Order: sequence, then structure tokens, then C-alpha cells
Amino acid sequence: MSRRNSYVTIRRRRKAKRSLRIRRLGLILLGVAVAIAVLAYLYRSDLFAWAGAAQEEPAGEEPSSKEPDPEEPPPEQPSQDEDPQLDAPEPDEPPADPQPEPPALKVVADGDYLLALVTKETTLKKDYEPRDLVKIPAYMNPPRDLYLRAEAFAQLEKLWQAAKEDGVTLAVLSAYRSYSYQVGLFNSYAKKHGEAAANRFSARAGQSEHQLGTAIDFGGTKYDFTDAFGETPQGKWLAENAHLFGFAMSYPKRMEHITGYIYEPWHFRYIGVEMAEKWKESGLTLCEFLELQTQYWE
Ligand SMILES: [Zn+2]
Repeated sequence: MSRRNSYVTIRRRRKAKRSLRIRRLGLILLGVAVAIAVLAYLYRSDLFAWAGAAQEEPAGEEPSSKEPDPEEPPPEQPSQDEDPQLDAPEPDEPPADPQPEPPALKVVADGDYLLALVTKETTLKKDYEPRDLVKIPAYMNPPRDLYLRAEAFAQLEKLWQAAKEDGVTLAVLSAYRSYSYQVGLFNSYAKKHGEAAANRFSARAGQSEHQLGTAIDFGGTKYDFTDAFGETPQGKWLAENAHLFGFAMSYPKRMEHITGYIYEPWHFRYIGVEMAEKWKESGLTLCEFLELQTQYWE
């Protein structure tokens, strides 16, 4: 009996303790809620300002982000009205701004400009032809009538003289080539080797430095138009001295990943004495060096 009584008493006490604990917890929660409400009321102006700024910020940027692209119609801008967090990329979502497929070639504004960048990403105009071409004289051993722009030719004569004094005899195998000549040349190579292979050593029309009237293919050896030309006295002399007369080797060894063309130890382009010396000092390929100079596009 007494055992049972004490058991009941213990249960009652426990019950009373539990309800006391629940009441205390309720009071604490109520206190916290009141405190939050008071704080929110006190700092209400700050809260509104913060929330307002978060909403207005992206919308405020919209006008300045719609600058017109000078070359292409502007791609559709994603709406910037929404919360930036909602714009977080989702894995399955297609990119909002797909890249235009082939990048348009930059059109060289003036082929007369000695530093014009002529690469596989640029093109000369179809009708660009230099107006001050000079005929290469017979003593330079041209295989046919060849022409070069006047300033480049004047410097070529000096180069020729200097080479001769060093016992080096050269030949000019190619110089100015018109757009239409290059069309025929590239097509004949493409027919023989396939277009991609041909484009490793021959430029498409509009992309040849020869159209500038300032590029020369040198020869005069039995290794003309081969890698081995670079090891001949002529090739070595040109590699060491051509820049002193304003000529730069456009397509050096192991630089095809940058220039787009195989090693052409015979191909030199006139860019002016001062610039050629700067180019030599820079250690850059010619196209990299010209990219650093001012360029004019159509
Ligand atoms: Zn060439």
C-alpha cells in the first residue's frame, strides 16, 4: 500500500515539474518574440532602406548596360529586373547569350598603313592595291615581272648591297600579289592539297601580306621555299640582318599556333626601320607585335 502511495506522489510531482518547465519555455519564447518585434520597430527605417536598395540596384544599372555594339546588333539582354540571386545559372538552362558562330573578319581600313595587321582573322579589301609600286630590277633575279612599294624597294636595294658586301647573293622570287592573283594561287594549292592544308602555307585572298606590296619571298638557293632555306647562308643572313633595313620575318619556326602559318624563313615584310628594330627587340612574332600597334578597321 505505502509503496503504491509513494509511486502516485512521485508521478504527481513529476507532472507538476513538467508543466512548470513548459510554462517557463513559453514565457522565454514570448520574451524573444517581443524583443524581435521591438527591435524591428526601432530599426524599421534601416530595414526598409536595405530591402529597397536590394530591389532597385539591378534595375538601376539597366540603362548603362545597353551600350550599342559598334559592329554587331546587340544581342538580347537578359532581364535585369529580377533579384540577381534568381538569375543564378541553372545547370540545364541554355546559355543566355549564345556566341555568334564564325567571328567576322576585321577589315583593314588602309593597306597603305605599314603596320596594318594581316592575319587569318583580318582581311584586306578586295580592291586594295598599292599605288606606288616599283618594278623589281633584273639584277635581283625575279622569275617574272615583280613589283614592290617604293619605300620597301628603296630599303631592299640597301639590304641587297649589304648582303652582297657580305658575299651573300639573293633572288626575289615573289613580291606584290594582287587579290585576284592570290585567289588563283590559293585555289590551285587547295585543289592539290585540300583547303585546310593549303591554308597552312598559303593565305586566302585578302589575307596575304603580299597584297600589301611590302612582302618579299627571298631565294637564290637550291633550298628555296623549304625549311632548309633557313640554314643556307642567304637564310641565315636575312634572319640576322633584314630588320636593320626594316624587314621582319613574318612566320618564324614553331610559331604556327600564333601566326597560323608554317615556318617560312624566306618570307619577309617591310614595316619601316624603326619599327623593325623595335619588333626585333620585343622578341614577339610579327602579328603579336602589330597587334600592340594602333590598327584601323573599316
Ligand atoms: Zn611570302
